[in-house]
Amino acid sequence: MTSTNDASINSTPASSATSYVLVLNCGSSSLKFAVIDASTGEQPLSGMAERLGSDDAEIVFKQNGAKQSQALTPHTHKAALQALVTYLQGYPALVQSLTAIGHRVVHGGEHFREAILIDSLSQQRIADCSNLAPLHNPANLLGIEAAQEAFPQLPQVAVFDTAFHQEMPDYAYLYPLPYEYYRDLGVRRYGFHGTSCRYVTAEAARLLNKPAAGLNLIIAHLGNGASLTAVKNGHSVDTTMGLTPLEGVVHGTRCGSIDPGIIAYLAHRLNKSTDEIDAILWKKSGLLGLSGLSNDCRTIEEAAANGHEQAQLTLEIYAYRLAKAVGELMIPLGRLDALVFTGGIGENSSLIRARTLDWLGFLGLQLDSEANEQCIRGKAGKISQHGHAAAWVIPTNEELMIARDSVALAVAAQGEQA
Ligand code: ADP
Repeated sequence: MTSTNDASINSTPASSATSYVLVLNCGSSSLKFAVIDASTGEQPLSGMAERLGSDDAEIVFKQNGAKQSQALTPHTHKAALQALVTYLQGYPALVQSLTAIGHRVVHGGEHFREAILIDSLSQQRIADCSNLAPLHNPANLLGIEAAQEAFPQLPQVAVFDTAFHQEMPDYAYLYPLPYEYYRDLGVRRYGFHGTSCRYVTAEAARLLNKPAAGLNLIIAHLGNGASLTAVKNGHSVDTTMGLTPLEGVVHGTRCGSIDPGIIAYLAHRLNKSTDEIDAILWKKSGLLGLSGLSNDCRTIEEAAANGHEQAQLTLEIYAYRLAKAVGELMIPLGRLDALVFTGGIGENSSLIRARTLDWLGFLGLQLDSEANEQCIRGKAGKISQHGHAAAWVIPTNEELMIARDSVALAVAAQGEQA
């Protein structure tokens, strides 16, 4: 959760127009949380529990610009949620103004094309998708169960990373593998970062002053995980991540797309199991593996500036593969209104943006160097010179999107009951 749009927690209860949502994002070893005003994006409370499952698990609460941390025992997701609930109990006015709980759920498989109000059937379906995201969906379910227990009166909403891409056509999502693996095992491309893409698409429509329904975008969400999505007339038509978030461009520690023959080759040459090779592809590759330094783009940029040749090559490969992905995604789009950079690297690295645009002159994209240097730390703006296509930086806000979805569904459910 990157947004730090603080509002005073002591100023609650808020006005009657305020719709606060508790947004929960349970990762495999972390729990990020925020209380968000769905209309303004203000966050009177946010924080994170980290290193869950290990002895030094802790939870940090951020409010009114101050941080407070506390060790967690036991070191579980459940204990983290309990600590959050106990903390919230100290602010009854804030709890009373909660409209819903919004859960980020990583994998919705083919079941979920949009955000949903959680009931027992949908909960079961989220559990059914656990095979596709074994590290994430079980953690997401823990968050849902704990929140249901703590706030039984509040609607619980699930917002899926995969949902936005469910409209992709079959020729884009099928792998050239025996068809029964898709039919029987669900092996296909799903795509991720969908919540971010929806938010950025809406923001692009606002900033470019064009309805989303007429907008063709390529959204480059570049964080620790990185993906590019082709958005045609407001809908995802192709994306670079696949069955898992391993596919596609270079990630922080993940390799992105490689020759699948490499897996068997390395297993034989290194006498390792495919699980061990898989772990290398997920955790020791990407920016980290190439540079030998770090998965953090800032560290690599600093080293490159100081003459570290491997760091320089790493950045070159990163940008080249981004540009190649843009080229591929032009096929379903045909016409491009804007290439949008977002995520930690997309929003902050003027160097990666410049290097990527260097390859994209054929699309009519010419960097505006001054504007590019200015668009950092949450500042949106156009970073290309005048032309038929444009490049933009648009900061994402997945938590706000989850909060908005949650309020919309909670209000609709109330309307049905009335
Ligand atoms: P996550 O995918 O975990 O949410 P983020 O979207 O926060 O990750 O992105 C993290 C990445 O953003 C890291 O590689 C970090 O180095 C990079 N980043 C953040 N600030 C800068 C910066 N000023 N310059 C270059 N890279 C940056």
